[in-house]
Amino acid sequence: MLERSNELNAFDRDHFFHPSTHMGMHARGETPTRVIGNGEGVYITDTSGRSSLDAFAGLYCVNVGYGRQKIADAIAEQAKNLAYYHAYVGHGTEASIRLSKMIIERAPEGMSRVYFGLSGSDANETNIKLIWYYNNILGRPDKKKIISRWRGYHGSGVMTGSLTGLELFHKAFDLPRAPILHTEAPYYFRRPDRSMDEEQFSQFCADKLEEMILAEGPQTIAAFIGEPILGTGGIVPPPSRYWQKIQAVLKKYDILLVADEVVTGFGRLGTMFGSDHYGIKPDLITIAKGLTSAYAPLSGTIVSDKVWQVLVQGSDQMGAIGHGWTYSAHPICAAAGIANLELIDELDLVRNAGETGAYFRSELAKAIGGHKNVGEVRGDGLMAAVEFVADRDDRKFFDPSQKIGPQVAAALLERGVIGRAMPQGDILGFAPPLCLTRAEADIVVKAAAEAVANVF
Ligand code: PLP
Repeated sequence: MLERSNELNAFDRDHFFHPSTHMGMHARGETPTRVIGNGEGVYITDTSGRSSLDAFAGLYCVNVGYGRQKIADAIAEQAKNLAYYHAYVGHGTEASIRLSKMIIERAPEGMSRVYFGLSGSDANETNIKLIWYYNNILGRPDKKKIISRWRGYHGSGVMTGSLTGLELFHKAFDLPRAPILHTEAPYYFRRPDRSMDEEQFSQFCADKLEEMILAEGPQTIAAFIGEPILGTGGIVPPPSRYWQKIQAVLKKYDILLVADEVVTGFGRLGTMFGSDHYGIKPDLITIAKGLTSAYAPLSGTIVSDKVWQVLVQGSDQMGAIGHGWTYSAHPICAAAGIANLELIDELDLVRNAGETGAYFRSELAKAIGGHKNVGEVRGDGLMAAVEFVADRDDRKFFDPSQKIGPQVAAALLERGVIGRAMPQGDILGFAPPLCLTRAEADIVVKAAAEAVANVF
């Protein structure tokens, strides 16, 4: 086993270009790769035989847990019957057509069609293009700017990297800044004025948005994009009435709303969509991860009837839409999606995410919420975060060079549990599979408490 591990590590160091990785440290062998071989339930096992409870579901995507025979069978069956056929002009496959119906049946009210892609990033690229196309059809060629938020995460393509409001994803890439703008993050814990209550802070965010719209000219602003709950930016639930206030501003200036539900779609917050959970009425919805629980790569843009009607009306003027990927609606991925959505229903995972999520977050808060270096334990559904601070009363943060978040994540891993050190700030994130049990939640909480005690 050890020999196999050593061999793989050597190949990996010399040939594999990893995403989001410090290349020098990897090439020098300072950060050896943990090679994962198997997964079962909420556990993964590496090639050296060591198991860990994956309390981040891969990258918050393996929502039904690992090792689901039903999805494996559906993938194998589809591959045997028909590995591929495209969905261009007049073609489709049974799996992708059936899946589109299942998605619309589960989507928030007013949604009409699904455009399939492979990743959250490409689905958001599709959104951007549809937003521009929509306004061209409507004869509004100047209405093209898109407002995103600092700390939002929407992918790492050329335009979607621009939408993403995190330093790491911009650094040294020269991504286009225009026509993307960033507004205030709805991050109550880091609000600029501590005397504000949550609702006042929500109003502050809505006012900032309106100021930006007026400064740029409402006739130039096409859309606003946001995750229902900030994910990669720190797992931050919106402050009270935030979405109501933001939507009122968008409505006033006829600006489309894109709900990026790549993480929250299909149950993570205890409702099928995060939009249902927070009363968001989007014009476009981005889906990916939970759609197949990552058993195969598949994403989608769900288009509302309002947008769809304009696209249909414009097609006589524009002709066929010049936007497509070879692998749009790939039948193997669609078959995985169907089996996954069926499994979510059969196992009642949406309800479990809400109930076990509430239990997990409350136990986590009880275990470590009072620690002198824990500024906040927060979350919603099966998403939770612990934010570490140097001084609780003064809300003083650690110097980033101390790498407190990664230290706690490493201490947690030593205790057999995977959490994620979020990329900005000293934040330990959790987003376990939706099938997590209370007993498994207890294991995570115990390990987190020990890890915190170990680091501070
Ligand atoms: N949108 C959100 C909210 C995400 O969290 C992510 C990835 O984590 C993406 C988009 C990008 O998805 P992908 O990594 O599949 O391109």
